[in-house]
Amino acid sequence: MATNGAGELNVAIIGAGPAGYYTAEALTATDRPVHVDIIDRLPTPFGLIRAGVAPDHQSIKNVSRRYEATNTRENVRFVGNLALGRDITLTELRGLYDAVVLATGAGKDRPLGIEGEDLNGVIGSAAFVGWYNAHPDYTDLNPDLRVASVAVIGNGNVAVDVARVLAKTAAEMANSDLASHAAGSIHGSPIRDIHIIGRRGPLEASFTPKELGELNQLENCVALVDGKQLPDPSGDADLSGAQKKNLAALRAMALNSADAKPVRLHLQFYLRPMAILGDRCVCGIRLEETRVEGGKCEGTGVTEVLPAGLVVPCIGYRTSPIPDVPYSARYGCFENEDGRIAPGLYCVGWAKRGPTGTIGTNKPDGAEVALKILNEVSTSRKEGRDGLDRIIRERDLHIVTFQNWKKIEAEEVASARNGAPRRKLTDVHEMVRIAES
Ligand SMILES: Cc1cc2nc3c(=O)[nH]c(=O)nc-3n(C[C@H](O)[C@H](O)[C@H](O)COP(=O)(O)OP(=O)(O)OC[C@H]3O[C@@H](n4cnc5c(N)ncnc54)[C@H](O)[C@@H]3O)c2cc1C
Repeated sequence: MATNGAGELNVAIIGAGPAGYYTAEALTATDRPVHVDIIDRLPTPFGLIRAGVAPDHQSIKNVSRRYEATNTRENVRFVGNLALGRDITLTELRGLYDAVVLATGAGKDRPLGIEGEDLNGVIGSAAFVGWYNAHPDYTDLNPDLRVASVAVIGNGNVAVDVARVLAKTAAEMANSDLASHAAGSIHGSPIRDIHIIGRRGPLEASFTPKELGELNQLENCVALVDGKQLPDPSGDADLSGAQKKNLAALRAMALNSADAKPVRLHLQFYLRPMAILGDRCVCGIRLEETRVEGGKCEGTGVTEVLPAGLVVPCIGYRTSPIPDVPYSARYGCFENEDGRIAPGLYCVGWAKRGPTGTIGTNKPDGAEVALKILNEVSTSRKEGRDGLDRIIRERDLHIVTFQNWKKIEAEEVASARNGAPRRKLTDVHEMVRIAES
């Protein structure tokens, strides 16, 4: 029996991350009758809230409660474990729904583009963070952490997250949902030096003060900065509030003593990677000193080699292309005009803007795209969710509903140990089995 009401606008949102949920929230906040299916390739909702945000930053993950509230609306449905491109095509979805919104994020690492980046032991942050956050795609990554020195490339919060997760002790991570397979490797590792390498200077770094400040409060690890790389305080009056706070944190680190704690975290500026060195496995990285003049960063020709057994580039992400959807190689996201790709086809979040902004940035973004859809798309007699359910039955697809995701979540919470909020499951088959039990 058909369930899509006459005059109802049927929208499919592909991707159950923040951008997808904020769009669904805005679409269903008006008087217009709308039904939204939020489709995700994973059996679990919430995108990078689950698989990106650091495992020891649980309070940030609480934003998912807001998305849960959206999911309790009777005209919003989560359809997990259904992948665009694997289980269903975009053409099929566009044939079923009045509007399709691509909220697929930017899940692939942007390459460094230098020699040696394919060596074993060079692992981009999408994969590395996915591994310690129990993303099913990266469970088997198995990075070799039996190394003394790690180079983390980039001067944003992802680099800070990676360094902090590597530096924290098991006790410091007790209240986190760090993947069990990662906890064993990280806490048994002999890492003694972690280097965060930035091409530009401390004023150009995009760390946020809170995240940077945390690096100076680690139990086993001392944060170190060469005071000569920090600007003179006489120029502080012209700086933004965030720059001033970051400089205060860096100046405090510059006073630390290298032998204060067993592990050292070096924040090094004005260095750009030239080549990753090694035979089969990485053993170091060649860096060139830089200077920043008139906003431009240029090499000085002076190089040095930093020994490192693991290199984690944290330099940004790209959206995975989808056949027949115009793609901007420059920005690593879909070509769009304020979220509109083609009639009835939209994008939002990182798939629209590229990998920039915080979770909150996706809210106005989702609202803007929702408004566009409500203004531009007229209701048709397309099948909507009934048509999707027919395809799911015909293909014997094992989708996960929101109620069934709650069973997975209950299992994760019930099996948590030592104060952890959950023990994340990583095997999709196991999750589907629990969902269907
Ligand atoms: C490591 C890391 C840490 C971060 N920490 C913070 C933080 O502490 N605070 C903060 O404010 N912001 C943080 N961010 C930024 C924040 O996570 C993003 O702004 C936000 O997640 C982007 O939302 P999105 O919905 O566009 O993408 P995503 O959250 O990536 O969601 C995309 C969803 O699409 C799904 N998908 C992809 N392809 C398909 C397909 N073919 N079929 C079906 N589904 C598909 C994915 O499974 C995923 O669930 C962090 C980002 C990273 C990478």
